[in-house]
Amino acid sequence: MKIVLASNNSGKIRELTAMLAPYDIELIPQASLGIEDIAETGLTFIENALIKARHAAEKSGLPALADDSGLSVSALHGAPGIYSARYAGEQGNSSRNIDKVLSELSNVADDKRQAEFHCVLALMTHDKDPVPLICEGKWTGTILRERRGMEGFGYDPIFYVAEEKKSAAELPAELKNRISHRGQALQKLLQLLPDKLNECSYS
Ligand code: IMP
Repeated sequence: MKIVLASNNSGKIRELTAMLAPYDIELIPQASLGIEDIAETGLTFIENALIKARHAAEKSGLPALADDSGLSVSALHGAPGIYSARYAGEQGNSSRNIDKVLSELSNVADDKRQAEFHCVLALMTHDKDPVPLICEGKWTGTILRERRGMEGFGYDPIFYVAEEKKSAAELPAELKNRISHRGQALQKLLQLLPDKLNECSYS
């Protein structure tokens, strides 16, 4: 089964491709079909995931999977949230995004630095699919005062996972994929996917 991945984020492509490797699914990044990112005009992770999945399904004619995700920091009232990728203004500049979060939290005490990663995965069998699959995952942690680790992507170097006593960027990829917001959302999606993809045989 071919599914187009509605993302040009190399971190997400790497993680989702690795997680889906054991399954009979060929995940095709949208860029390899010449599909560009669409503006994320929604106000929630769910809305943005649907916008991206619908766009990729429409352009490719294939079932499409989208991931909308981000970091919500309690002391910042949930920011950067859906604006995680562009928090410091420039799309995709993780280093500046991290600097901005660290500076905004510079006076926040250690016991007030709670944060959550959120991931919404949306799967549409075609662009007019009226019942997309929507699965969510949430990963709780705290925000460090400085970067730790070189793995992962995005905000991983400042996201501390107490259970592992490591930042997300210090975790081996396989462990991050097992426990992360994205890993949790994908496990839920995989439970529902066989029934959903059966629709493709009669649509
Ligand atoms: P989106 O393309 O709007 O979904 O942007 C998601 C952004 O959230 C990414 O660019 C990262 O900054 C951040 N993000 C999402 N998932 C992760 C993760 O697993 N680790 C670190 N940062 C993440």
